[in-house]
Amino acid sequence: MEFEPVIGLEIHAQLLTDAKIFCGCSTKFGAAPNTHTCPVCLGMPGVLPVLNRKVVEFMMKMALATHCDLNRECNFARKNYFYPDLPKGYQISQYAHPPAEHGWVEVDINGGKKRIGITRIHMEEDAGKLMHDEHNPASYVDLNRTGVPLIEIVSEPDIRSAEEAAAYLRRLHEILVYLEICDGNMEEGSFRCDANISLRPRGTEPFGIRAELKNMNSFRNVQRALEYEIKRQQYVLEGGGQVVQETRLWDDTAGVTHPMRSKEEAHDYRYFPDPDLVPVVIDDAWIDEIRKGQPELSLEKRERFMREYQIPAYDAGVLTASRALADYYEEVVRLSGEPKIAANWVMGDILRFLNEEKREIRECPIAPASLAGMIRLIQQGTISGKMAKEVSEAMYRSGKTPQAIIEEKGLVQITDEGALAKTIAEIIGKNSAQVEQYRGGKEKVFGFFVGQAMKATQGKANPQLINDLLKKMLAG
Ligand code: ADP
Ligand code: MG
Ligand code: ZN
Repeated sequence: MEFEPVIGLEIHAQLLTDAKIFCGCSTKFGAAPNTHTCPVCLGMPGVLPVLNRKVVEFMMKMALATHCDLNRECNFARKNYFYPDLPKGYQISQYAHPPAEHGWVEVDINGGKKRIGITRIHMEEDAGKLMHDEHNPASYVDLNRTGVPLIEIVSEPDIRSAEEAAAYLRRLHEILVYLEICDGNMEEGSFRCDANISLRPRGTEPFGIRAELKNMNSFRNVQRALEYEIKRQQYVLEGGGQVVQETRLWDDTAGVTHPMRSKEEAHDYRYFPDPDLVPVVIDDAWIDEIRKGQPELSLEKRERFMREYQIPAYDAGVLTASRALADYYEEVVRLSGEPKIAANWVMGDILRFLNEEKREIRECPIAPASLAGMIRLIQQGTISGKMAKEVSEAMYRSGKTPQAIIEEKGLVQITDEGALAKTIAEIIGKNSAQVEQYRGGKEKVFGFFVGQAMKATQGKANPQLINDLLKKMLAG
């Protein structure tokens, strides 16, 4: 029997607000343990949470970008459970009345497009972090992260393969980062994903029993964990067994999932509306204001690049991978007037240099004006494409302008036709045997003459000019 995977993802994205969701403490990552805390986020009795308006606005941005309906009223609920990193004994989350529902995003899959539904988006607070001492039987708790704002984005069970799951995840990641509401760092946990997966016989409707996978901290691991889980569940079902509804942890090193807790042990959270927080009212005027402030998103940008700059879809995709990269490219185009050549240089040398050193485009030592200047010098024939390679490398290492580098290295292309013709005449004079061969119909010998001319000019001659002159002068 052939089985079809059914997958739904729950994503937690940490929001880039300066302050926590219910107090004024800083959200900055990496501070000394427990220094970003106050009575509110430490869960002291008698304190009162106050909602950070920015958190609602960031949630609204994501809701609008993913075509969700924004409910005019939502409220917060207490999700009760005990854990040492949760000092209050409950997490403030949203349950029965989420702010955003019924959205979707489109992903590219197998050369086509597919819409994946978003069930809901809600706001909640993060918990703290436990650190287990490897050398002592002790655990420590850092409460800097308690109260850091999160949005949870729950997908419909619309995903049908591990590859689709990864594509959906990448799309959401891209949108969050474009909106500048989440830094998207998966390793630091600012973007986390739990995956729910079940199998059903292909062609049938009802969903099978699902497992929930946790602990995947990269796109690749989400895909690997799902691929493993598809095989595992298939093996269970083919053997006549039943998949157990449980939470399983991905083990990156072993490349397998292990059971963590079964549904019987699962928590009953006893959700109830948080009496300390009033309902949140979102009116049309507020939605309009947020809508007006939305940036151009990656898909729109990609299409505009193809239309406006006449570059291929592939180029547009690479160049819109981040807003900063797209801005860089557009600046080079504006200053050089050469969209396709600019695309080639940014995707080629610039990204290669940056990747080699794992640097961001923001840290690129070559200013857009320098790259544009270099492109103009190639177009004017001042330097050859080959020299430009040397110039771009030197610009990257030194941060200097192309003009400065060309002067330093004496990299000016010979475009003086008279001087070049003289050199070529000398070469023709010295190599009469090859001239005869060429004139006798052995066209391959042409390459020999190009080589000689390049050598005589130390590679500084304009190749097109060499070609033209050789053709003319060899013809006799
Ligand atoms: P929970 O409250 O246990 O997290 P939800 O109903 O909120 O459960 O669903 C969580 C995620 O699991 C959603 O993304 C949903 O699409 C997905 N899901 C629900 N049922 C199934 C199933 N049978 N197989 C795969 N995914 C499922
Ligand atoms: Mg769940
Ligand atoms: Zn605080």
